[in-house]
Amino acid sequence: MRLSRAFIPTLKENPVDAKIVSHRLMLRAGLIRQHAAGIYNWLPIGTEVLKNISSIVREEQDSTGAQEIIMPTVQSAELWKESGRYNDYGPEMLRIQDRQDRDMLYGPTHEEVVTDIFRNNIRSYKDLPINLYQIHWKFRDEIRPRFGVMRGREFLMKDAYSFDLTYDDACHSYNKMFISYLRIFKRLGLKAIPMIADSGPIGGSLSHEFIVMAATGESKVYCDRELLSKEIEPHIDYDSNLQDAVDDWTKYYAVTEDKYSSEDSNIKSKDIISANGIEVGHIFHFGHKYSKPLNASIKGTNGKDIFPFMGSYGIGVSRLVAAIIEANNDEKGIIWPEIVAPYKIGLISLKVGDLEVDNLVESLYQKINSKGYSVLYDDREERAGVKFSDMDLIGIPWQIIIGPKGIKEGYLELKSRKTNQLFQVRLDNIEQSLLQYVSP
Ligand code: ATP
Ligand code: MG
Repeated sequence: MRLSRAFIPTLKENPVDAKIVSHRLMLRAGLIRQHAAGIYNWLPIGTEVLKNISSIVREEQDSTGAQEIIMPTVQSAELWKESGRYNDYGPEMLRIQDRQDRDMLYGPTHEEVVTDIFRNNIRSYKDLPINLYQIHWKFRDEIRPRFGVMRGREFLMKDAYSFDLTYDDACHSYNKMFISYLRIFKRLGLKAIPMIADSGPIGGSLSHEFIVMAATGESKVYCDRELLSKEIEPHIDYDSNLQDAVDDWTKYYAVTEDKYSSEDSNIKSKDIISANGIEVGHIFHFGHKYSKPLNASIKGTNGKDIFPFMGSYGIGVSRLVAAIIEANNDEKGIIWPEIVAPYKIGLISLKVGDLEVDNLVESLYQKINSKGYSVLYDDREERAGVKFSDMDLIGIPWQIIIGPKGIKEGYLELKSRKTNQLFQVRLDNIEQSLLQYVSP
């Protein structure tokens, strides 16, 4: 993409009402613009980052055997009356009426809808286990939307729902999501720690939140220091028994504030840190909480009707954009991990208008584009300083810098946004040389 054609409205000044760094940088680098309180437009590079995060979530969820669907954002209130949650959910639910005066709502979560799909289409134990997920917009009329997309009212969530025949099978489904979540956050370059959590309005008996430690986080958590340096196993077979792998994480003390008691006797206080964190995911097991009231029974192995055990599993996809920025920034701007960056390479010409430089940069742009690299080419007639600071603000991980001097000597400069290191890359075998540092 040529920067002269790209819609990336950057801001020079810090927006005054943005209180945390991710919110400031998302506005300044042109990822988002507010539409109304807690409701945002996602501009091109913000959209690109959301797509990149969604692809990783999708790949990892698919590899557990979960299947992607799309459910409606606008739901019928009838289902919520059946489950008993219509009155319980409170003012966070946006309630609307259609032209026939039917009660509708904008979905804050989808347990009822997915259970309705299940009961209308699945009849037998032979169809279990099944896990259906979507990546879609939710609306919660939060009392205090703030910090940009960190706590929005409309936000993008990955929500998965599992149905199992037995309690043990349901634990296996829960464990699959537990491990899948660790893998997703790791791939996104985040250290997210699973912590025992309250299940809130979703309900249920077993629940973990995945927390990224950050001073600006709104969740207060307590956990064993050792968890901060714990790594995940690189390989996983989702058909094997995952209990040991999960226990290996849950054997440490790690709880959210709701579950914390200073009298927890089996812990030594010196090993427990208390900190703030960002909740990026939350998984629940809740048994028959929805399958029973919605009468989603199926034929069991002995021909008798049974209710499936259910769980639900959320990831805050749009909140993750902010969480990633909170963990990866400096005074110049965002430092995207390569895997989510809107563009992997920024191409900066130091002398627009110089025929030799223009020709070379143009042909290089075509060449690396055709090799599948995503490139943001700054073709504007701006000072070099402006170009550097825009690339740094937007956070492009690799920046190619070309000027007359380098051309004469047969090389270009490649800068790492993260380490600031400069590498000299030969011009004669550019693709091979680039590959040493960055793959498409
Ligand atoms: P919170 O405690 O932050 O209000 P929650 O516990 O109500 O979140 P869940 O129902 O567990 O949220 O939703 C699943 C995930 O969706 C959360 O882990 C979080 O990452 C994300 N999420 C929830 N509410 C918001 C919001 N208002 N804005 C952005 N993301 C959100
Ligand atoms: Mg939660």
